[in-house]
Amino acid sequence: MPESLKKIIRDVPDFPKKGILFKDITTLLKDPIAFQTTVDLMSHRYIGKHVDVVVGIEARGFIVGAALAYKLGAGVILVRKPGKLPHKTHKASYKLEYGEDSLEIHQDAIIPGQKVLIADDVLATGGTVSAVIHLIEKMGGEIVECAFLSEIEALNGRNKIKNHPVFSLIKF
Ligand code: AMP
Repeated sequence: MPESLKKIIRDVPDFPKKGILFKDITTLLKDPIAFQTTVDLMSHRYIGKHVDVVVGIEARGFIVGAALAYKLGAGVILVRKPGKLPHKTHKASYKLEYGEDSLEIHQDAIIPGQKVLIADDVLATGGTVSAVIHLIEKMGGEIVECAFLSEIEALNGRNKIKNHPVFSLIKF
C-alpha cells in the first residue's frame, strides 16, 4: 500500500457529526504527484478489462471516476443526490455512516450489457455503493469492480457488497 499517499489524507475528527473521523482527500487531490500516482495506480488495474463506463458517486467520486475514465478511454456516468439530474431518473435510498440519503441515475445512462466500473473516494459502511450497485444492475449493467481511493476497514463495508469485487488503494 502506498504509505506516502495514506499519510497525505487528512483526518478531520467530528465532521460532519460528532464521533465521525472524516477522511479528507482534498489534501491528496491538491498535491500533483499524489493525485497523479493515485490515478495511475488505480487505473492500471483496469487496463485491458474493457471498461465501457465509470460511474462516479457524488461528489468526490466524480473526481476519481472521471480521472479513471479518461485513463481507460471509458465514458463517465454521474450518480447524484436527488433533484440534481435533469432527465428521467431511477432512485435508490440508503443508510450512511452519518445519516440517510438517496441517489439518482439517469434512466438511459447505461446500456444493458455494458461493463461498469464504480468509483468513489471512501468505502465506509458500504451503504452508498450498495445502492449504486442496485441501480446499475436494475439497468442491466455488468459490474467489473467497485474501486475506492480508500477504505475504512473497521466499518466492514466489504461485507455488504461481498457478491461483487472490491478494490481499495489505501486501507485505514
Ligand atoms: P458508506 O455508505 O458508509 O460506505 O459511505 C461512503 C460515502 O460517504 C462515500 O461517498 C464517502 O465520501 C462518504 N463517507 C462516509 N464516511 C466517510 C468518512 N469517514 N470520511 C470521508 N468520507 C466518508
